Amino acid sequence: MPEKSLESKRKRKYIVILGSIMSGLGKGIVSASIIKLLLERGLRAYPIKFDGYLNVDCGTMNPFRHGEVFVLKDGSEVDMDFGTYERFMNKDLDGKSSLTGGKIFKTIIERERKGNYLGRDVQFIPHVTDYIKEYVRSFAEEKNADVVVIEVGGTVGDIENSYFIEAMRQLSLEEDVLFIQLTYIPIIKDSLKTKPTQHANKLIQSYGISPKLIIARTQKKLGKEEKEKISLYCNVESKDIFDDIDVAFVYELPMLFEKQGLFERIKHWLKIKERKQPEWKEWKKRLSNLYNYKDEVRIAIVGKYTKIRDAYISIEEALTHASAETKIKVNLEYKESSKLEKEGVEELKNYHGIIIAGGFGKRGIEGKIKAIEFARKNEIPLLGLCLGMQLMVVEFARNVVGLSAHSSEFNDNAKDKVVDLLPEQRRIAYKGGTMRLGEYVMEIKEGTLLYDIYKKKYAGERHRHRYEINPEYVEILEKHGLIFSAFYKGIAEAVEYKNKLGLGVQSHPELSSKFEKPSPIFVWFVRTAREKKLGRKG
Ligand code: GLN
Repeated sequence: MPEKSLESKRKRKYIVILGSIMSGLGKGIVSASIIKLLLERGLRAYPIKFDGYLNVDCGTMNPFRHGEVFVLKDGSEVDMDFGTYERFMNKDLDGKSSLTGGKIFKTIIERERKGNYLGRDVQFIPHVTDYIKEYVRSFAEEKNADVVVIEVGGTVGDIENSYFIEAMRQLSLEEDVLFIQLTYIPIIKDSLKTKPTQHANKLIQSYGISPKLIIARTQKKLGKEEKEKISLYCNVESKDIFDDIDVAFVYELPMLFEKQGLFERIKHWLKIKERKQPEWKEWKKRLSNLYNYKDEVRIAIVGKYTKIRDAYISIEEALTHASAETKIKVNLEYKESSKLEKEGVEELKNYHGIIIAGGFGKRGIEGKIKAIEFARKNEIPLLGLCLGMQLMVVEFARNVVGLSAHSSEFNDNAKDKVVDLLPEQRRIAYKGGTMRLGEYVMEIKEGTLLYDIYKKKYAGERHRHRYEINPEYVEILEKHGLIFSAFYKGIAEAVEYKNKLGLGVQSHPELSSKFEKPSPIFVWFVRTAREKKLGRKG
């Protein structure tokens, strides 16, 4: 093959990130940080996340088991790592970046039924592995990517991801692929232990793969001695071992890698060239704002999945983005709605702002409604997200209008179903990917709080719901003072209180908030909470 075509074939580069030893090391944050290092140099970098489970997507998973279900602009329901990618990349991704075991096998079986493999038995190797390679390559082409960063979900040694890792090994025979091992260094009696890393590295080598870089999650920086040990046993140079120490804000991690020269080593191994010098201007400014805050507020999130740290991660991050914008630190506390239901909501008076989170299912619903009533009556800034907005309408209908109101999601026999199933949902039997999903552009009424916030007539936000405000009740609710500030083709997208202290949105603005481009709704909310604290509001 002539030299030239070989070069052009290798225009695209791949980084494969493998987790070792155990899960929960923050592989998504490491992957996102690496992408950020590349983007900052003008390189076109895109992620693919592989998840080994046989679900086609995350839509049918419970937050208790899997953390938040993240929704992309195109409506794909994906792993929460995608939230991290987008928040770091300052870019909206599409569903093609998400590849699951379920998606792969669905395609393979469909192809088999069509007769694509006629005469053959369909096998993991070559059919599944070839399909994975084909997917990854055509993704890189479609995005015109310089580098595709592939995060392999799970841990090396899992059965679920073994065929995918094999596909990556094969890919490395045909393309420029850099393998990175993410590892964990436990500390026992003050000494950092490298043995698990050595064993895990051997396991990776048994797949025929030699990671060139090792990123070590640790509580303390690795010393020269530990690096030398890892270097000797794992076939890497000391300069190719990087610390991934705990940070207060995940947005520090790219800077931490930057300081250690991670990009230089990626550049060396992948033979890539930056298109511009990194500046980090916006990023650094916002990071410094997080530390140099001028004031702080106390915010409560009322929700159902409060025991699961990652269930409301996008809300937490959107608040952090708003902090970085406003220099107002947010001290966040979770309130379990079923507990508020039993024990009362009086304690909410200690907060400068209350967020009612989205969700599904009956448990804790009355607790959320009580919290809304308390916030409305005591003029505490209130933000209702999706289900939170629906319940703001239920509360208003009951306590201000005097209706016998509920959402038909929780009581189908309620006299006044002020929240009801979306008409198109009545015909749907399948559960996966069938909600009203992804971005819809709402039309905002001028003169409303929402218009003040977005400063424009049309704004797109992401959705994930089956129920809506029953259009038959809009008029009577409005007559009693609830403002409907935005609609999308007849579907109510936002409600607000006249005093401009309460806002409910049918969408999830937290999903599109980015570190360098915070959601205007969360910026408004944090600012309003501070005004409340200073006694200027309410
Ligand atoms: N359960 C509600 C619905 O389906 C709200 C969903 C949500 O909060 N994401 O409409």
